[in-house]
Amino acid sequence: MRIILMGPPGVGKGTQAKNIVDKFNIIHLSTGDILRAEVDGETKLGKKAKKFMDAGKLVPDELLLNMMENRLQQEDCKKGYLLDGFPRTIPQAEGLESILNKINQTIDYVISLTADETELVNRLVLRGKESGRSDDTEEVIRKRQQVYWRLTSPLSDFYRERKLLHEVDGLGTIPEITNRILKVLE
Ligand code: AMP
Repeated sequence: MRIILMGPPGVGKGTQAKNIVDKFNIIHLSTGDILRAEVDGETKLGKKAKKFMDAGKLVPDELLLNMMENRLQQEDCKKGYLLDGFPRTIPQAEGLESILNKINQTIDYVISLTADETELVNRLVLRGKESGRSDDTEEVIRKRQQVYWRLTSPLSDFYRERKLLHEVDGLGTIPEITNRILKVLE
Protein backbone atom coordinates (compact mmCIF):
# COMPACT_ATOMS: atom_id res chain seq x y z
CA MET A 1 0.00 0.00 0.00
CA ARG A 2 1.22 3.49 -0.88
CA ILE A 3 -0.31 6.45 0.93
CA ILE A 4 0.15 10.21 0.93
CA LEU A 5 -0.76 11.88 4.23
CA MET A 6 -1.44 15.62 3.97
CA GLY A 7 -2.54 18.28 6.39
CA PRO A 8 -1.52 21.66 7.79
CA PRO A 9 1.41 21.93 10.23
CA GLY A 10 0.29 20.92 13.73
CA VAL A 11 -2.62 18.71 12.73
CA GLY A 12 -0.83 15.63 14.08
CA LYS A 13 0.38 14.09 10.82
CA GLY A 14 3.49 12.60 12.41
CA THR A 15 1.58 10.79 15.16
CA GLN A 16 -1.05 9.45 12.77
CA ALA A 17 1.63 8.43 10.30
CA LYS A 18 3.26 6.22 12.95
CA ASN A 19 -0.04 4.55 13.81
CA ILE A 20 -0.82 3.80 10.17
CA VAL A 21 2.60 2.43 9.20
CA ASP A 22 2.61 0.13 12.25
CA LYS A 23 -0.79 -1.22 11.29
CA PHE A 24 0.05 -1.92 7.64
CA ASN A 25 3.74 -2.70 8.05
CA ILE A 26 4.85 -0.11 5.52
CA ILE A 27 7.59 2.48 5.94
CA HIS A 28 7.17 6.07 7.06
CA LEU A 29 8.88 8.61 4.82
CA SER A 30 8.78 12.05 6.41
CA THR A 31 10.62 14.56 4.25
CA GLY A 32 10.88 16.85 7.31
CA ASP A 33 12.69 14.06 9.23
CA ILE A 34 14.90 13.18 6.26
CA LEU A 35 15.86 16.84 5.80
CA ARG A 36 16.53 17.33 9.53
CA ALA A 37 18.88 14.33 9.42
CA GLU A 38 20.68 15.91 6.44
CA VAL A 39 20.99 19.19 8.36
CA ASP A 40 22.34 17.39 11.45
CA GLY A 41 24.79 15.44 9.28
CA GLU A 42 25.91 18.72 7.70
CA THR A 43 25.63 17.16 4.24
CA LYS A 44 25.60 19.22 1.04
CA LEU A 45 21.82 18.91 0.84
CA GLY A 46 21.46 19.71 4.55
CA LYS A 47 23.48 22.88 4.19
CA LYS A 48 21.32 24.03 1.29
CA ALA A 49 18.06 23.12 3.04
CA LYS A 50 18.76 24.64 6.46
CA LYS A 51 18.21 28.29 5.61
CA PHE A 52 14.81 27.59 4.05
CA MET A 53 13.73 25.39 6.96
CA ASP A 54 14.76 27.88 9.63
CA ALA A 55 12.73 30.58 7.88
CA GLY A 56 9.63 28.38 7.62
CA LYS A 57 9.97 28.35 3.83
CA LEU A 58 9.83 25.38 1.52
CA VAL A 59 13.08 23.82 0.34
CA PRO A 60 13.20 24.14 -3.49
CA ASP A 61 11.17 21.55 -5.41
CA GLU A 62 14.15 20.33 -7.41
CA LEU A 63 16.08 19.33 -4.28
CA LEU A 64 13.07 17.46 -2.89
CA LEU A 65 12.38 15.66 -6.13
CA ASN A 66 15.97 14.48 -6.50
CA MET A 67 16.02 13.34 -2.90
CA MET A 68 12.73 11.43 -3.21
CA GLU A 69 13.53 9.89 -6.58
CA ASN A 70 16.51 8.22 -4.91
CA ARG A 71 14.68 7.35 -1.74
CA LEU A 72 11.67 5.70 -3.39
CA GLN A 73 13.90 3.31 -5.29
CA GLN A 74 15.52 1.87 -2.19
CA GLU A 75 14.73 -1.71 -1.26
CA ASP A 76 12.70 -0.91 1.89
CA CYS A 77 10.11 0.99 -0.19
CA LYS A 78 9.05 -2.17 -2.00
CA LYS A 79 6.69 -3.22 0.79
CA GLY A 80 4.82 0.08 0.58
CA TYR A 81 5.19 3.48 2.19
CA LEU A 82 3.45 6.45 3.66
CA LEU A 83 4.60 9.86 2.46
CA ASP A 84 4.39 12.48 5.20
CA GLY A 85 5.12 16.08 4.19
CA PHE A 86 5.62 15.33 0.50
CA PRO A 87 4.46 16.43 -2.01
CA ARG A 88 4.02 19.99 -0.74
CA THR A 89 3.51 21.87 -4.04
CA ILE A 90 1.87 21.21 -7.41
CA PRO A 91 5.27 20.88 -9.15
CA GLN A 92 6.27 18.29 -6.51
CA ALA A 93 3.03 16.37 -7.10
CA GLU A 94 3.64 16.42 -10.85
CA GLY A 95 7.26 15.40 -10.31
CA LEU A 96 6.16 12.56 -8.03
CA GLU A 97 3.75 11.37 -10.69
CA SER A 98 6.51 11.10 -13.26
CA ILE A 99 8.87 9.38 -10.82
CA LEU A 100 6.16 6.82 -10.01
CA ASN A 101 5.40 6.28 -13.70
CA LYS A 102 9.06 5.61 -14.29
CA ILE A 103 9.28 3.01 -11.51
CA ASN A 104 5.86 1.51 -12.25
CA GLN A 105 4.13 2.45 -9.04
CA THR A 106 0.89 4.22 -8.17
CA ILE A 107 -0.48 5.90 -5.05
CA ASP A 108 -3.47 4.12 -3.50
CA TYR A 109 -4.81 6.76 -1.12
CA VAL A 110 -4.32 10.43 -0.33
CA ILE A 111 -5.53 11.26 3.18
CA SER A 112 -5.97 14.94 3.93
CA LEU A 113 -6.38 15.80 7.63
CA THR A 114 -8.42 18.98 8.08
CA ALA A 115 -8.45 21.39 11.05
CA ASP A 116 -8.97 24.98 12.15
CA GLU A 117 -5.94 27.29 11.80
CA THR A 118 -6.03 29.03 15.22
CA GLU A 119 -6.19 25.71 17.05
CA LEU A 120 -3.17 24.54 15.08
CA VAL A 121 -1.01 27.58 15.84
CA ASN A 122 -1.71 27.10 19.57
CA ARG A 123 -0.72 23.45 19.39
CA LEU A 124 2.50 24.24 17.53
CA VAL A 125 3.58 26.98 19.92
CA LEU A 126 3.22 24.42 22.72
CA ARG A 127 5.17 21.78 20.78
CA GLY A 128 7.97 24.31 20.12
CA LYS A 129 8.34 24.94 23.85
CA GLU A 130 8.55 21.21 24.51
CA SER A 131 10.75 20.03 21.62
CA GLY A 132 13.03 22.99 21.09
CA ARG A 133 12.68 22.55 17.31
CA SER A 134 14.31 25.64 15.78
CA ASP A 135 11.37 26.19 13.40
CA ASP A 136 8.70 26.05 16.11
CA THR A 137 8.68 29.74 17.13
CA GLU A 138 5.40 31.61 16.72
CA GLU A 139 6.61 33.73 13.80
CA VAL A 140 7.95 30.74 11.87
CA ILE A 141 4.82 28.73 12.71
CA ARG A 142 2.60 31.43 11.17
CA LYS A 143 4.84 31.51 8.12
CA ARG A 144 4.58 27.72 7.74
CA GLN A 145 0.79 27.92 8.00
CA GLN A 146 0.68 30.58 5.26
CA VAL A 147 2.92 28.47 3.06
CA TYR A 148 0.60 25.50 3.59
CA TRP A 149 -2.59 27.33 2.62
CA ARG A 150 -0.97 29.03 -0.36
CA LEU A 151 1.16 26.23 -1.85
CA THR A 152 0.09 22.88 -0.40
CA SER A 153 -3.70 23.07 0.01
CA PRO A 154 -4.20 23.28 -3.82
CA LEU A 155 -3.01 19.65 -3.87
CA SER A 156 -6.45 18.64 -2.59
CA ASP A 157 -7.93 19.55 -5.96
CA PHE A 158 -5.06 17.86 -7.76
CA TYR A 159 -5.76 14.57 -6.00
CA ARG A 160 -9.54 14.99 -6.01
CA GLU A 161 -9.38 15.10 -9.81
CA ARG A 162 -7.44 11.84 -9.74
CA LYS A 163 -10.08 10.32 -7.43
CA LEU A 164 -7.50 9.61 -4.73
CA LEU A 165 -8.44 12.23 -2.14
CA HIS A 166 -10.08 11.34 1.19
CA GLU A 167 -10.64 14.20 3.63
CA VAL A 168 -10.59 13.22 7.31
CA ASP A 169 -11.52 15.46 10.25
CA GLY A 170 -8.25 16.07 12.12
CA LEU A 171 -9.82 17.37 15.35
CA GLY A 172 -10.38 14.90 18.16
CA THR A 173 -8.31 12.50 20.22
CA ILE A 174 -5.43 10.61 18.62
CA PRO A 175 -7.30 7.24 18.58
CA GLU A 176 -10.45 8.88 17.18
CA ILE A 177 -8.51 10.31 14.27
CA THR A 178 -6.61 7.04 13.71
CA ASN A 179 -9.93 5.20 13.51
CA ARG A 180 -11.30 7.65 10.96
CA ILE A 181 -8.23 7.09 8.82
CA LEU A 182 -8.39 3.30 9.17
CA LYS A 183 -12.02 3.35 8.04
CA VAL A 184 -10.85 4.87 4.77
CA LEU A 185 -7.99 2.41 4.32
CA GLU A 186 -9.69 -0.82 5.30
P1 AMP B 1 7.88 19.18 8.44
O1 AMP B 1 8.60 18.41 9.50
O2 AMP B 1 7.16 18.31 7.47
O3 AMP B 1 7.01 20.26 9.00
O4 AMP B 1 9.03 19.90 7.58
C1 AMP B 1 9.89 20.85 8.17
C2 AMP B 1 10.49 21.75 7.10
O5 AMP B 1 11.21 20.96 6.14
C3 AMP B 1 9.47 22.52 6.26
O6 AMP B 1 9.05 23.72 6.89
C4 AMP B 1 10.27 22.78 4.98
O7 AMP B 1 11.22 23.82 5.17
C5 AMP B 1 11.05 21.48 4.84
N1 AMP B 1 10.30 20.49 4.01
C6 AMP B 1 9.80 19.28 4.41
N2 AMP B 1 9.17 18.67 3.40
C7 AMP B 1 9.26 19.50 2.34
C8 AMP B 1 8.79 19.44 1.00
N3 AMP B 1 8.08 18.40 0.54
N4 AMP B 1 9.06 20.49 0.19
C9 AMP B 1 9.78 21.54 0.61
N5 AMP B 1 10.23 21.67 1.86
C10 AMP B 1 9.98 20.66 2.73
